[in-house]
Amino acid sequence: MLRMAIIWIRMAGALTFLSWRFFIPQRLYMRITMLIRLIFIACAFALLACDSKVVAPESDNALHQNAPAERRQVNVYSARKEALIFPVLKQFTEETGVVVNLLTGDADALISRIANEGELGSADILITTDIGRLVRAKQQGLTKAIDSEVLSQHIPAHLRDPAGHWFALTTRARPIMYSIANVKAEELDDLEDLAAENWRGKVCVRSSSNIYNQSLIAALIIQQGEDFSLEFAKGLVANLARPPKGGDKDQIKAVAAGQCDIAIANTYYLAGMLASKDASQVAAAERVKVFWPNQSNRGAHINISGAVITRHAPNPVAAKELLEFMLGKEAQAWYAAHNHEYPVRKGVEPSEILRSFGTFKAEQINLEKVGELNGAALQLMDRAGWK
Ligand code: FE
Repeated sequence: MLRMAIIWIRMAGALTFLSWRFFIPQRLYMRITMLIRLIFIACAFALLACDSKVVAPESDNALHQNAPAERRQVNVYSARKEALIFPVLKQFTEETGVVVNLLTGDADALISRIANEGELGSADILITTDIGRLVRAKQQGLTKAIDSEVLSQHIPAHLRDPAGHWFALTTRARPIMYSIANVKAEELDDLEDLAAENWRGKVCVRSSSNIYNQSLIAALIIQQGEDFSLEFAKGLVANLARPPKGGDKDQIKAVAAGQCDIAIANTYYLAGMLASKDASQVAAAERVKVFWPNQSNRGAHINISGAVITRHAPNPVAAKELLEFMLGKEAQAWYAAHNHEYPVRKGVEPSEILRSFGTFKAEQINLEKVGELNGAALQLMDRAGWK
């Protein structure tokens, strides 16, 4: 970049010798050459300035640039959309001077990419959602154990790996959502009650291939055992209003449209619909309400968005600094609010929309085990006929 700037400045000097000077008055010639020089020099400074900024997201090439030795940087592979993480990373750069190179993409594709890149990989941090994916990255040997007092202090013990390979950045809940028109809150209690006969043909839930459902059933297996979980899954399948299709938002919309009375969905989908600029989404969301199940026993099922530092991270120190920064009060509040998730750090308030869903008791099991049991959960759902 410096070399390019020097070339620009030299080009500005070379303009002095252009032959058209002999065809116009001397005074006008002087003014024009001065103006052109100024433009070229301004461009040279602009080139240098661009180089010191946070590299634009999606710019894969940026990950392979040779940075000057004195400039610290960290490479982030993120399954979260650029707009939902970039401002936090930018703030980190402004406060620490560490340049963040961001690559966004599909979670599973990013995990495969880190695996394929191996020792020559660029990624320092992988940010993704669902414990199933974080544990999968760990099981594939792609992660590095981190010992951080800041992370240990601010992340509850069950929301980080006991061995330090993964850490929660936010939590998300997967409660029951019901039709305000067709269901009374008093009719609901525990998640497992959705397998009872009185809900026949009234429940909507997405496919068993979805990792959120695998984690939900894995958590149930841990807390209630395999036989109980299988019976629940069978009963739930028997109560479906339609074969599983679409994402969580589609289940919420189906409840709003009266196609089913009950859905199981992650809270941030309903919150996102309520915050939407699309009036039809807001109207649909307003016909649906959150019900917190299992409040008198194990608590409602929760999952996380989280991060790992990669095994071959070229910048592990800066990577750890960035994770610690993301546990700061300000970063937690912004990041959680913009993703409609719950801050993982205690004392940081969730957004107004999430507060409107009410407070709840959450499951307390360590999510490491939930991630480990994802495969077993999928097999169980298969046996129950959950498509
Ligand atoms: Fe999601």
